[in-house]
Amino acid sequence: MAISRQTVSETLAETASRRPVLQPVLTAFTPLLEARAALPEKLAPMLEESDFSLPPWRPERAQQGVPLLAGASLNGLFPLLRESAGALLPLLASLPSMGGYSAALEGFFQREDDAMKAAQALLDGNETGLARIAEGAKLPAPVLVFALEACLGPVIRVVAAKYDSPWDERPASWMQGFCPVCGSFPSVSYLEPRVFDEKNAYLAGGGGKKHLHCALCGTNWHFRRGACPACGQEGSGVMELLRETGGNRGERVDWCTKCKSYCPSVDLRERDTVPDMDAMALGMMHLDIVAAQKGLQPLKPSFWNQF
Ligand SMILES: [Zn+2]
Ligand SMILES: [Zn+2]
Repeated sequence: MAISRQTVSETLAETASRRPVLQPVLTAFTPLLEARAALPEKLAPMLEESDFSLPPWRPERAQQGVPLLAGASLNGLFPLLRESAGALLPLLASLPSMGGYSAALEGFFQREDDAMKAAQALLDGNETGLARIAEGAKLPAPVLVFALEACLGPVIRVVAAKYDSPWDERPASWMQGFCPVCGSFPSVSYLEPRVFDEKNAYLAGGGGKKHLHCALCGTNWHFRRGACPACGQEGSGVMELLRETGGNRGERVDWCTKCKSYCPSVDLRERDTVPDMDAMALGMMHLDIVAAQKGLQPLKPSFWNQF
């Protein structure tokens, strides 16, 4: 029996009912998260009609830790990015501190050359390139990066979905703490739920394998539980947990004692449904606050955890 999966709205509604203090923030982000989740269905047929050529999966590159889209040509993806920006920028404009930039952002995502250069720089991890592009567009770099990640995410999700076998099913082929498809650090991680055998109720697997989730392209991949996704150190005492006492429903922060980075995590063995992981990353922002007070740095900075 597979445990049921929640949508973005269901995950946020449940979080809001359990943590009323987060309600205003969750409400502010709900339209954006829902629109992002709905976009891939619209973009998938556009990808089929585009000139984009899917980079082939090359095991030897993966073994060296090179993500699939690093250095790949993004030719053909601009119509998808423009479509995504058309749907999401009006929603971004309603977020606190974003409104003042909406005209500049609208203009930016109309210019193919600028928008695609920025997308390429983001996927290549080229921060100086991004800073230069932001300066040219008279936008603060964090504002441009936030908008770009929001709009490019659904496009890259459609690309990532084209690879036939999910990364979760090839654990030995990718050992890194960053995403095998787009190279981003994970926004959240989860431990697998217990597996029940329908034919024999007494036969149940323990679950608990760790997976990292990429907020940009939606990829999930297996990762070693005792290792830090940021600095790669591994062994007893490297990774520690922070959790609230009582009623935390498997929600916690995994943090590294060596480099002081952290990633929110949810242990699905302690829940009866599987939340939407992008909504869950936002729904655990109370733990971002606890981590910030402890002087830890988010592995993947998000709009709501940059204090
Ligand atoms: Zn990714
Ligand atoms: Zn570390």
